[in-house]
Amino acid sequence: MQRRSIFIKTTLAALALATIAGTALAQGYPNKVIKLQIPFAPGGTTDIIGRVIAEPLGKALGQTVVVENRAGGGGVVGATELARATPDGYTLGMATVSTTAANPAINAKIPYNTLTDFTPIINIAATPNILAVHPSFPAKNFKEFLAEVKKSPGKYSFSSSGTGTIAHLQMELFKNLNATFITHIPYRGSGPALNDTVAGQVNMIFDNLPSALPFVLQKRLVPIAIAAPQRIAALPDVPTFKELGLEPVNRMAYYGLTAPKGLPRDVVDKINAATKKALEDPAVRKRIEDTGSLVIGNTPEQFAEQIKAEYEVYKKVVTSAKLTLE
Ligand code: GLU
Repeated sequence: MQRRSIFIKTTLAALALATIAGTALAQGYPNKVIKLQIPFAPGGTTDIIGRVIAEPLGKALGQTVVVENRAGGGGVVGATELARATPDGYTLGMATVSTTAANPAINAKIPYNTLTDFTPIINIAATPNILAVHPSFPAKNFKEFLAEVKKSPGKYSFSSSGTGTIAHLQMELFKNLNATFITHIPYRGSGPALNDTVAGQVNMIFDNLPSALPFVLQKRLVPIAIAAPQRIAALPDVPTFKELGLEPVNRMAYYGLTAPKGLPRDVVDKINAATKKALEDPAVRKRIEDTGSLVIGNTPEQFAEQIKAEYEVYKKVVTSAKLTLE
């Protein structure tokens, strides 16, 4: 009993100290450069959204926000590093559906717990996904595409932003639902995956729309289907997976800010408010919307809920379609 009360007192004292430390931290925060870590290679959507927000976020916080790419393992290398960083607000990371939901759902060996090892701060944007082929591929629309991949299982390959990413899982689901086989070629992010696909070294790519859209508009990639609630204004003739009867593949991606677990609430609120301020700027909104994305800007609780819900969705997908990393 006595031991228990000592424990409670110690815990309360520790909590009080943490709160005081947090408040003190928030008062002086930020007083040095902030690092925004991108867990994918340059040229991908995480990089695009991260770089759009870094400068106006820094302006709103009164400090410079520097972007650093830490690619590898479908975003797991960077996310692991972020989870182990000091929760002082000077190391922030871009959280994606891949690092927070898809990869943790399929890969039991991930060295972080997506629900407890991070402090969700804000979801910045939701982005559609796209399946697109190299112009040499013998199909220009979904009907022809499906006939071709079903006719020759194993003949074609697709590129993705990495093992266990949303791009990888959605394509595995697509293959599963259509009883066909397409070889997976993982990259360190969509940037390098796009380069090789546009060069014709891989037949097709499943990507987040922002990074793929410029190549589609330049006709260097042919769009086959979009994962979004409705068709995209920039590509009005491209059907959604939902229209094609493939509702499970019709999921969007998200890009938000997280910190290591234990970031004091005052600092979370400061970064959340500064990001919202940045997102109110019409020029920043336009840069995000021009990529085909939706600006979100929610609360830390809403973002945490969203991560949890999406993680549950991917766990169900992995179980029901019996997806594995082998
Ligand atoms: N596909 C990744 C995701 O949505 C991002 C890929 C990239 O930024 O290169 O999480």
